[in-house]
Amino acid sequence: MERMGKELQDRHYRELQRGRQGSEMRIDSGWLQGARQVPSPNQDRRPEHEVSAVGLHSISLPPGEYGGDHIERLFTNRLDPDAHPFFAAIAELKVSAHLLIRRDGECVQFVPFDRRAWHAGRSCWIEGGRARRALNDFSIGIELEGNEVSAYREAQYRTLAHAVQALMDDYPDITPGRITSHARIAPLRKADPGPAFDWAYFRHCLG
Ligand SMILES: [Zn+2]
Repeated sequence: MERMGKELQDRHYRELQRGRQGSEMRIDSGWLQGARQVPSPNQDRRPEHEVSAVGLHSISLPPGEYGGDHIERLFTNRLDPDAHPFFAAIAELKVSAHLLIRRDGECVQFVPFDRRAWHAGRSCWIEGGRARRALNDFSIGIELEGNEVSAYREAQYRTLAHAVQALMDDYPDITPGRITSHARIAPLRKADPGPAFDWAYFRHCLG
C-alpha cells in the first residue's frame, strides 16, 4: 500500500510539473516555445518528413569548459579558429543540433524540428530487424552541455524531460523506447553523452 501511495504521489508531482511548464514547453511550427532561438544554416529537408526518434549528445567547448558562446558559434559557422588551439580542427565543420541544453538548464534551439539537423554523422539504428542508417534523417538531436564523465546538472535533466515530453506530444512516433544516444548509434566513433548521463533518473523525470 505504501508503494502504491508513493507511485500516486510521484504521478501527481509529475502532472503538477507538466501543468506548470506546459505553456513554456509547447512546440509551435517546429520551434520549442521557451527556448532561445539561434537559427543555424546547417540544416536541410528531411527526405521522408519522418520525425520518430531522439538522439542525445554532449558537447563542451573548449572541451571540459562550460559557459561562453563557442557551441553556438560552432553550430552557426562562426567559431573563431584562433580563439583556442582546439578550435582550428573543428571550426570548418558544418554541424548542428536541434537543441542545446546549457548547464543552468537554458534551452537553445538551432533548427526547427521538421528540418534535418546535422548531429549524428555516420550512424546506424536497428529497427524491427533491419538496420537504418543516417539517423539525422528522422531524429531530433539534443546536445547537453557536458563532458561525458562529469555529472549532468539537475536543471539539465528537468529541461530535457520537459523538452522530450513536448516532442512526444507533438510527434507521436517518438516514444520513450526511441530515445537513444550518440554512443549507441555510432558506437565505434562516439561515447556521448557518456557514463555520466543517468538514464534511470532521466526516465524518472520523464514520467
Ligand atoms: Zn554526439
